[in-house]
Amino acid sequence: MSHILRNIPSVTELLEKPPLQRITNSLHRNVVVQHVRGFLDQLRSQVQTASDAIPIPGASELAERIAAWILVEEIPTLRPVLNATGILLHTGLGRAPLAAEAIEAMGEIAAGYASVELDLASGQRSQRMQAVVPLLKELTGAESAAVVNNNAGATLLTLSAVAAEKEVIVSRGQLVEIGGSYRLPDVMQTSGARLKEIGTTNKTRLADYENAIGPETGALLQVHTSNYVIAGFSEATSLQDLVALGAKHQLPVIDDIGSGAMVDFQAFGISDEPTVAGSIDCGADLVLFSGDKLLGGPQCGIIVGKQHWIEKITKHPLMRALRVDKVTLAGLRATLQLYRDPDTACQRIPLLTLLSTPLANLQQRAERLAPQLAECGAIADVQVIADITYLGGGSVPTQAIETCCLSVSPANGSVDALATQLRGGNIAVVGRIHQDRLLLDLRSIMAAQDRQLLDAFAALS
Ligand SMILES: *Cc1c(COP(=O)(O)O)cnc(C)c1O
Repeated sequence: MSHILRNIPSVTELLEKPPLQRITNSLHRNVVVQHVRGFLDQLRSQVQTASDAIPIPGASELAERIAAWILVEEIPTLRPVLNATGILLHTGLGRAPLAAEAIEAMGEIAAGYASVELDLASGQRSQRMQAVVPLLKELTGAESAAVVNNNAGATLLTLSAVAAEKEVIVSRGQLVEIGGSYRLPDVMQTSGARLKEIGTTNKTRLADYENAIGPETGALLQVHTSNYVIAGFSEATSLQDLVALGAKHQLPVIDDIGSGAMVDFQAFGISDEPTVAGSIDCGADLVLFSGDKLLGGPQCGIIVGKQHWIEKITKHPLMRALRVDKVTLAGLRATLQLYRDPDTACQRIPLLTLLSTPLANLQQRAERLAPQLAECGAIADVQVIADITYLGGGSVPTQAIETCCLSVSPANGSVDALATQLRGGNIAVVGRIHQDRLLLDLRSIMAAQDRQLLDAFAALS
């Protein structure tokens, strides 16, 4: 065995071979050396553990193999994806794509210094959230606002600042889990507030809240059941009733609405999605929502509501731990700016544009793309099919959105193999598999990306 190990070329010898020389043009030499060492270590342990002698290729062939391996190893894990799943708020795919205005503002602020906590008029220190607070007030009708890292953070901070060591009353029907790592009871526990569950899974009445109120009560919490519905023999207490009850007992009402719709999504065929302004109008003391769900902005958690509660929240030590950076603030501000005119929002915010594209447009694009895709050697046939999809990302699971898909079947091999190949391409494409066919859903593909879709397939053969 040791004689086989001796046949392995040295790092220096390998680095002189053209395939590895070429790589040092784009990767730092030290990085290439690390990779070569790593590869050789693996090869040595294979030789040592193999029962039969492993043939060691010559230096040139080995260098070629290592170069190919380095190229694969160096593919970044975070890459742009062409979302052909049809799910518009796919958490795995980073939720909402941003408006061009937001991207531009983020680039501009990221590139240099900015007046993050400096009031340029007075030269005095200012509050970083001033970048977005006036717009949030204007758009939602709230007295004040705060922004943190995400809605989980907004919930944690709000409960900590408003109700630590007190009881927070929540209906059993609203103890949500949003993806494995967010469970309301766990967030509540971390905040130091005590969960007081009331009612049953399917019915919680106003009297259940009222009976639970005692000297230990710190707040009433309503949570939007954004990723499930309780239907049939069910009853929930209205926000109006909760607000009246809170006022009677001088308790704040916190409304976690989840998705943060700034406009009425009824116009997009989605009902029952609470709007931020609607909740404020009802009298909720604090309303919590995500920035990257239906709002269509960067990842953040937004808290709007009564001035004295927001002050308490912004003074809490967790505020500093959860604060957003200047780039997020710039993106959020630019996104909110678009909402000052609902038509502009619809045209400029990609999520709203995708959602509001008429089915006939998707159909036309699909009919145009189908014959071009059919020319690709990797696929056997293409059909244009009508289908339904969902918003995703913990929003509205039951409301179907009409869509149009290109349904393709592979020329060779399985549909899973085709899907894997597409994910690994230069332009990573993620579709959805249904009954041995790969569906490419145009609902989540912007018209400007159609060319990329064709290119991704052309690159397969
Ligand atoms: C999505 C969601 C959350 C979590 O929000 P993140 O921004 O993902 O942290 C919390 N509550 C509700 C009701 C949600 O829908």
